[in-house]
Amino acid sequence: MQAIILLGAPGAGKGTLAEGLKTSTDYLHVSTGDMLRAAVKAGRPVGLEAKSYMEKGELVPDAVIMKIVTERIEQDPPSVKYMFDGFPRTLDQASMLDDVLASHGGRITHVFMLDVPRDMLVSRLSGRRVCKNCGAVYHVQNIPPRVAGVCDVCQGPLYQRPDDCEATVLNRLEVFKKQTESLIEYYREKGVLVKIDAGRDRELAKADIVARLGS
Ligand SMILES: [Zn+2]
Repeated sequence: MQAIILLGAPGAGKGTLAEGLKTSTDYLHVSTGDMLRAAVKAGRPVGLEAKSYMEKGELVPDAVIMKIVTERIEQDPPSVKYMFDGFPRTLDQASMLDDVLASHGGRITHVFMLDVPRDMLVSRLSGRRVCKNCGAVYHVQNIPPRVAGVCDVCQGPLYQRPDDCEATVLNRLEVFKKQTESLIEYYREKGVLVKIDAGRDRELAKADIVARLGS
């Protein structure tokens, strides 16, 4: 049982990269969000427990997240290779994950830290515009609509989500940095941290990761 982790700030392109890696490697993409939703949908006790926090708008505690991850790992055959995305988030989760994997003869082989210059993250996120009608996503520089402020698909009005305004973006990046500093150090000490230049073409970043996995 092997596992890799994708670590990246908001706007680093983690989702797109995970999608690409899913099709070009035999790693199974696992996000905690998906696992949470599946556990809730299946009505499993741990799912109901998680739901009680989500309904109150509270963060699901580490212990509950870990129960969900553990249940998942116990269901899968030992040959499985995981690609974790958005998890672990905390040092506690990281050390619990190591324990769970170890108890199934597994380990984390690589933690890919997607490195993108801060200016680029800010521009990627704050340039994002979303159609109010159909949810189509644009970017003022990278994917501009044919007519400024108007959706190509449905002619609906484009708007900037409150999450994407520059002040909020800067704050989100700061929070991410604070949250991941200790995680990065943890994995660096274990010798599994790999920095990937994710500020260029997404295909190049993907090829870089695939090459590292093969060597
Ligand atoms: Zn639209």
